[in-house]
Amino acid sequence: MEKSFAIPISRRDFMKLAGVTALSTVLIDNNHTEAAKTPSGDSIKYADKKIPVLFSVDVCICGGGPAGTAAAVNAAKNGANTLLIERGIALGGLGVLGCVYPFMDTHAPDSDTPYLKEVKNRLRGYGIEPFDGVTQQTWHNPETLALIHDEMCTENGVKILYQAVVVDSITSGGKISAVIVQTISGLAAVIAKIFIDATGDAYLSRVSGVDYERGYEKTGNNQPLSFRFEMGGIDTEKLYNYVAIELKEDWCKSKLPYFEIAEAMHRKQRYKLEEFMARGVETGEITQDEAEYMQAYTIIGKNGVMSMNCPEIPIKFSATDPISYSNAVIFGRKMMRNIARYLINHLPGFENAFISREAVMLGARESWRIKGKYYLVEDDYHNQSRFKDAVCRTAWFIDAHGEKISEKLPAGGFYEIPYRSMITDKISNLIVAGRCISASFILQASMRIQPTCYSIGEAAGIAAAFAVENKIDANKLDWATVPAYKRSYVSKA
Ligand SMILES: Cc1cc2nc3c(=O)[nH]c(=O)nc-3n(C[C@H](O)[C@H](O)[C@H](O)COP(=O)(O)OP(=O)(O)OC[C@H]3O[C@@H](n4cnc5c(N)ncnc54)[C@H](O)[C@@H]3O)c2cc1C
Repeated sequence: MEKSFAIPISRRDFMKLAGVTALSTVLIDNNHTEAAKTPSGDSIKYADKKIPVLFSVDVCICGGGPAGTAAAVNAAKNGANTLLIERGIALGGLGVLGCVYPFMDTHAPDSDTPYLKEVKNRLRGYGIEPFDGVTQQTWHNPETLALIHDEMCTENGVKILYQAVVVDSITSGGKISAVIVQTISGLAAVIAKIFIDATGDAYLSRVSGVDYERGYEKTGNNQPLSFRFEMGGIDTEKLYNYVAIELKEDWCKSKLPYFEIAEAMHRKQRYKLEEFMARGVETGEITQDEAEYMQAYTIIGKNGVMSMNCPEIPIKFSATDPISYSNAVIFGRKMMRNIARYLINHLPGFENAFISREAVMLGARESWRIKGKYYLVEDDYHNQSRFKDAVCRTAWFIDAHGEKISEKLPAGGFYEIPYRSMITDKISNLIVAGRCISASFILQASMRIQPTCYSIGEAAGIAAAFAVENKIDANKLDWATVPAYKRSYVSKA
């Protein structure tokens, strides 16, 4: 089931059958300006069907999460004719569709790249102050974030194809010439000179023949899935008084309206709410799985609403098996109900609360990861590796739920992420961005946080535009040779 299962035809067969008609000369032409000029109204044959070519662009980004959105805006800003394809109807990926909130702190000094700075400034413009005055987390507002991403894309001329799922690619000579997209009106093709895989699941890479891996090599398990949600109707002041003052829980350092409650039994950090959740197991109101992990954050600009970082679905459910994944949705939704009911019945402040929003994307912390030119490993974290071709820095700890939680690096410490971990030997016009870059399971558990994914995406967009402009293969491009004024991050290595 590793290959695209949406279209029951192998790529080799497809190449025989497809007869990419008159476009074939454009598709394999290295002359970058040619493809961009391809008139609309063209079609290609795919799986014995004639399907329209919806767009022919310089850069096509698949997936509009943190990485893909940053990539799209920056490719367009740097002069590329850019298309962003997203299967949902909002940009922001897990941060919007998956109710994942807030952006964690990279713990690395000066890690914000220009795109992140602009997102934060725009949040302020909408009255959402992302800085709580204590931590470096970015407290945003998902609906405002989605709006900001739309604005940044449209202002910079990015075309967005929403409710469109990339299902396959057409490759030849080590290049992707087109992706096949399931749109609201049926299958369509998109031609581009450079493709960026920002699907989080390395989907485009996998269907294009790139090597990949998934899960932890020691257990075969992915990180656990979560089914995040939001609860409204919460009296946050009453909750604060109970947790922070009565229970004397000092986990959350910031003050209302920036407030967080948490407990995670397996981490043995002795959160005050562990006892509260354990009581629910004793009375049979919640299961041990449901009690294991519960966390909630206030959402700025949504008074009385908290973002629930739970339930964490048992590890036996897989982020990479479509049937197990579907069962996880059903199992997770039931867990969500039970946790919500328990909080409503027993936690001061939750008396009038209700589930106000369910994620429309299950929370996969880790699924598939490419094997690229550079493979980041745990030693890169501990050795604080530096690279001439680094695209960003980060120092979020190794946060592999259920497996390993590392120590934080010493204050001021960080490691860098090289451009080579975003490209492969297999496909010359592919850049990979976000949580599915080339990294081991353990290292990915550190680099996967949203700010780092934004910064990786930002660099991917700049690199793609530079490669188009200079007619360089994306996988031959050396980020260190891109003029410093164009780069979102310049390493001191
Ligand atoms: C439960 C959970 C809690 C987390 N907590 C935090 C946290 O508190 N703070 C933090 O900073 N990070 C957190 N993270 C990590 C972070 O949210 C993700 O790692 C990050 O969003 C990854 O960004 P991305 O752009 O690589 O991928 P994603 O956010 O996964 O975005 C991928 C996008 O691609 C789209 N897509 C996928 N396949 C296709 C396709 N075939 N065609 C078209 N579109 C497609 C998806 O719809 C999505 O919009 C958490 C993650 C999880 C799962």
